[in-house]
Amino acid sequence: MRAAVLHGPDDVRVEEVPDPVGEVLVEVRAATTCGTDRKMLRHGHRILGAYPARFGHETAGVRADTGERVLVSDSVACGKCRPCRAGRPAICRAPTWVLGGFAERIAAPDAALHAIPDGLDFAGAAMAEPLAACVHALTRGSDAADVAVLGGGTIGLMLARLLVLDGREVLVCDRHGERRAQAEAMGARAADALGEHDLVFEAVGHPAAWEQAVAAARAGGTVVLVGGCPAGTTVALDTGPLHYDEVDVRGAFHHTRAEIDRALALLGAGDVDWRALAGPVVGLAELAGALQRPTTGEARKLVVDPSR
Ligand SMILES: [Zn+2]
Ligand SMILES: [Zn+2]
Repeated sequence: MRAAVLHGPDDVRVEEVPDPVGEVLVEVRAATTCGTDRKMLRHGHRILGAYPARFGHETAGVRADTGERVLVSDSVACGKCRPCRAGRPAICRAPTWVLGGFAERIAAPDAALHAIPDGLDFAGAAMAEPLAACVHALTRGSDAADVAVLGGGTIGLMLARLLVLDGREVLVCDRHGERRAQAEAMGARAADALGEHDLVFEAVGHPAAWEQAVAAARAGGTVVLVGGCPAGTTVALDTGPLHYDEVDVRGAFHHTRAEIDRALALLGAGDVDWRALAGPVVGLAELAGALQRPTTGEARKLVVDPSR
């Protein structure tokens, strides 16, 4: 089969490789991309393992054995570690990662597979992976009515949509007018300045944005840090709000099996319009170039169709 194989930083080659080996073989119909794929291409990633490596972690397709339409989750929690036993599999210490969606086929443990609701396209189903991370991030927040999302990328827009569905007053802060327009189309307000709020989600993944998000929280407020910064990054936080104002600062990482099913249901019901976040469809050969192109304008995910 053909697969996009990473051989080193910025070195991806489409190659003929043996079929992957694992519990269930899935024929990939759509794999969507996100900022993590750009990072993996540019300088590797802690979960990639040694080169040559496969990537692509938002994957939907058809089970080779039963023909069932499935989303392939990018991980399976171990179920045994301390966070797993405490009911927090999102921060499992020993997850099995399931990467390699940018290929004609992917092998996955049965526990990584989720049935796709009838009527939901493969590209929309693939987006259940990032949407599940947003479902998870909301559980890390509070029930405050006045909420801001810093960053109008695909994650910021998904967070905003979930908060709108939950009946909150949502402001999306982004300097790109195109992304502000996307946020407004999802029912949020949009601005290029953050202001002060009771609940702030950071969805940029940059130390300066983390600091800005914490500074935007009102006394007694909550900040949820969703965007990942490179390992080893440090941020400088004013101790005043953390102590005197009791501002809660929390991380949000990954998702649980139930959150993926919730995301699939939201996409299947049309509550989250995945088409508004879908960009061009590309084949494996076009993937590297498309990922290396600078991202400007609207926030949209590439849809990789390995049969092209
Ligand atoms: Zn992703
Ligand atoms: Zn675990």
